[in-house]
Amino acid sequence: MQAKAKRYPEEAARLLKEKPQVRTAVTGATLHFERNRLKAYGEIDAEAWRERAKAVKNHLLTHLDHYLELAEKRLRENGVQVHWAETPEDAHRVLREVVARHGVRRAVKAKSMLTEELGVNPLLESLGVEVYETDLGEYLIQLLGEPPSHIVGPAIHLPLEEIQRLFHQRFGTPLEASPEELAQVARRVLREAFLTAELGISGANFLVAETGTLALMENEGNIRLSTSLPRVHVAFVGLEKLLPRFQDLGLFLPLTARAATGQRLSTFVSLLQGPARPGEEGPEEVHVVLVDHGRTALLHDPEAWEVLRCVRCGACLNACPVYRQTGGHPYGYVYSGPIGAVLDPGLLGLEEAHPLPFASTLCGACQEACPVKIPIPKLLLTWRHRAAEEGLSPAWEKAAMGAFLKVMASPTLYRLFSRALRGLPLPQDLLPLLRAWTQGRGPLKPSPKPFHELWQTLKEAKEEGDGG
Ligand code: SF4
Repeated sequence: MQAKAKRYPEEAARLLKEKPQVRTAVTGATLHFERNRLKAYGEIDAEAWRERAKAVKNHLLTHLDHYLELAEKRLRENGVQVHWAETPEDAHRVLREVVARHGVRRAVKAKSMLTEELGVNPLLESLGVEVYETDLGEYLIQLLGEPPSHIVGPAIHLPLEEIQRLFHQRFGTPLEASPEELAQVARRVLREAFLTAELGISGANFLVAETGTLALMENEGNIRLSTSLPRVHVAFVGLEKLLPRFQDLGLFLPLTARAATGQRLSTFVSLLQGPARPGEEGPEEVHVVLVDHGRTALLHDPEAWEVLRCVRCGACLNACPVYRQTGGHPYGYVYSGPIGAVLDPGLLGLEEAHPLPFASTLCGACQEACPVKIPIPKLLLTWRHRAAEEGLSPAWEKAAMGAFLKVMASPTLYRLFSRALRGLPLPQDLLPLLRAWTQGRGPLKPSPKPFHELWQTLKEAKEEGDGG
């Protein structure tokens, strides 16, 4: 996927102005997910579960070479063809070869952020393959020609009326068709695709190194059909998606479901163990493509590597007050919200993604939600410091920060300015640069006295009291 992360501030402002309905839809859906997560965390000792999950992932990441080799060995023993892809082009080569060898004309796809990252759909289309996204949300945005807006709910930004309009134009359904009727239409189209596709494509929630098992979580049953009905199955797996032992699934499957949607377990869990054996139903050929695409470099970054613990549950997006305003599109890359803000600079390079770490209030809600305890606010600050060091901040910001530093370093200047600013009209009337911040917020009511004066008064009062 071509990244447009640099344009985040402009795109966010444009979306808020031109499509206010997106804010309503995203806020409603994410608050719903967030309430469910809080309830689901409340049923367990969430702190202990999250600590264990963090420890397992840290162990994996610090022994990744060992577990990758083990996973490859076990996959091959299971009859799976294993490929290593350092770059998207390497992954494309594998897919091209499979398409050519099997004469693939139609492919069904399970939802996978990694395949978005690799640009799998445009590649297949360029090869003349008809691609069907089979997750309902993904199918909707595929019809609209849009990228996903959320890791777990790709069409979270779409109000029902827009989907009704889309289906009316596309399939002739009534404009007031119910969600159930719309789902039935999609189901009919996708059933036909499942039954006729030669190729099924998926990602993986986890790949167990000990047994070579691919674990996939879902609620619609489409992943099960995509990975079992076509003759060939290709799974793209990021290097960080491994788990050391089969028993780790006992922790990660329910914890990820609780974090993502507040479910105790997703409706379907598929544990795939290679191609069908004699007498079994399933694909004749299974390929696993182990994808690096910047992950190894990130692993060697001592200040940023913890982001690789991510299990792509989307909980940090649901908790984020900034993401809720716009959904994922303005972030301009596959991963949006807090995880995008700390992962995209690592995958794309800071120059490509430098506005994203600033798309946060640093409130810490993301870290509280994260099932693997990724210290997102700390990582945001790391990337912000680097952006400042590399001179990526806009000139006005550098000048403003320089002036701020001077004022804060001098008690005389500080007093002078805090006195001068008191009683002035709202800042947006004076400083156009503050308009983006003050829009949508109530009027500021400055304290009659600055904090240091209040502090001094309190101190003196206390000293008098103590003396008496
Ligand atoms: S950073 Fe944490 S909360 Fe966000 S998607 Fe990754 S695992 Fe989930």
